Amino acid sequence: MEKIQNFINGAYCPPTNGQYIDNVEPATGQVYCLIPNSDDRDVELAVQAADAAFPAWSAMSIEERGAVMMRVSKGIEARMDEFVAAESRDNGKPVSLAAHVDIPRAVSNFHFFATAIEHFASESHNMVGEGINYTLRKPIGIVGCISPWNLPLYLFSWKIAPALAAGNCVVAKPSEITPYTAYLLGQVCKDAGMPDGVLNILHGLGGSVGDAMVKHPKIKAISFTGGTKTGEYIARTAAPMFKKLSLELGGKNPNIIFADCDFDDMLSTTLRSSFANQGQICLCGSRIFVERPIYEKFKAAFVEKVSKTVVSFPQDPAARMGALVSKPHMEKVLSYIELAKEEGGTVLTGGERVILPAPYHEGYYVRPTVIEGLAYDCRTNQEEIFGPVVTIMPFDTEDEVLMMANSTEYGLAATLWTSDLKRAHRMADQIESGIVWVNAWLVRDLRTPFGGVKSSGVGREGGWEALRFFTEPKNVFIKY
Ligand code: NDP
Repeated sequence: MEKIQNFINGAYCPPTNGQYIDNVEPATGQVYCLIPNSDDRDVELAVQAADAAFPAWSAMSIEERGAVMMRVSKGIEARMDEFVAAESRDNGKPVSLAAHVDIPRAVSNFHFFATAIEHFASESHNMVGEGINYTLRKPIGIVGCISPWNLPLYLFSWKIAPALAAGNCVVAKPSEITPYTAYLLGQVCKDAGMPDGVLNILHGLGGSVGDAMVKHPKIKAISFTGGTKTGEYIARTAAPMFKKLSLELGGKNPNIIFADCDFDDMLSTTLRSSFANQGQICLCGSRIFVERPIYEKFKAAFVEKVSKTVVSFPQDPAARMGALVSKPHMEKVLSYIELAKEEGGTVLTGGERVILPAPYHEGYYVRPTVIEGLAYDCRTNQEEIFGPVVTIMPFDTEDEVLMMANSTEYGLAATLWTSDLKRAHRMADQIESGIVWVNAWLVRDLRTPFGGVKSSGVGREGGWEALRFFTEPKNVFIKY
């Protein structure tokens, strides 16, 4: 069976302890390759390589660094089909989604930050008659990037690209459940002429290799995307070492639909915002609030569309939804559907596992599920499910829906459907979240700040925010 390898100091190498763990294909439920079960010794090797590479990489001109990153971007693009197939196989998502979203975004992430760094400016503050301050922005040194399984290469590169562009060397860990495209990235970097040790990619469990990264004294910043509980642990561990932290965590996003919206546009977008990537996007709108005059109309039309959604193996061109990422995750999602029933909810469509014909009969497929009749403050409506499950609830007033929308511990993203301009501004101002889409969903401009409030995280990614995070400001004062 294929064994993927760590990428340290520009070379693929086995884990120091020689141990491997299974990597399962979600579409079939079968192990299809092995991944290193790395530990703190591999982190040490990666840190040593990064340390040795840092002086030259950080001293390189931004044009030269940008050129290497552009070649990485082109290198992924040139191997598009291979990356798409690998991402879809590793994660269970439809091939069409990996081809249209995941891998093109990884290409853009490297391209975007390779050019953004050329335009990145720092501040100057003049003190009339006294002197001038200017602020240098220096790379931090060695930084750690830890990413989740839902958008594997997309989120991995979203962290690595700004870190590298700013002149840092990186030790990075993809999710142990979806390591394959990160594994392929090593070769692309090598072929692009990236100097050895600039990017080091380690595979293994969060609790061992991830933890060792967070604890390593020479890794000065951690950019993490994942669950809120893991984020809490990382913050607790890193804070006494005064590490810089960017934490992108969970969500329980509201999708608020007013009666005056463009109904057809809202309906087709709500189908996507509910179930794209099997509902495993931190930005999916899992709580749908519908103004009462159109509640019944929405319910009938939405349930009809959802019940026709084709759930199939990722390579099936007809598939609109593929497999969930793992067996434990599927079981978690199914347990929340049971909880919703116990809490008094009615399943309007879905609510069950889908068993496809062999060889996919052991894959992790769940029918898209719509539930109504739940209180806004029950567990189903407060806890992150991160799967193809949405609840629908009627509302009567703006104040009421705002109260319900803001009632969870999370605050990542919100979607708002209305044709009343004043209301759109009023609501956008008052919703507690880092991102609000009005009459749209998942429209992303890479220059905009990305991140959440409350338990959805600390800090922002994207554009200047990311380049600021991955640099240290140093103020210099010169007396006139
Ligand atoms: P986890 O928090 O379980 O894992 C995220 C990453 O952290 C993985 O690489 C994991 O390793 C690693 N990890 C786990 N424990 C530790 C530790 N003690 N120290 C260091 N690293 C550790 O999240 P999931 O992978 O399950 O991802 C789903 C979550 O991600 C959801 O909550 C979702 O909302 C959130 N998310 C947030 C986004 C945002 O932008 N706000 C975007 C996408 C997802 P391993 O899995 O290999 O053990």
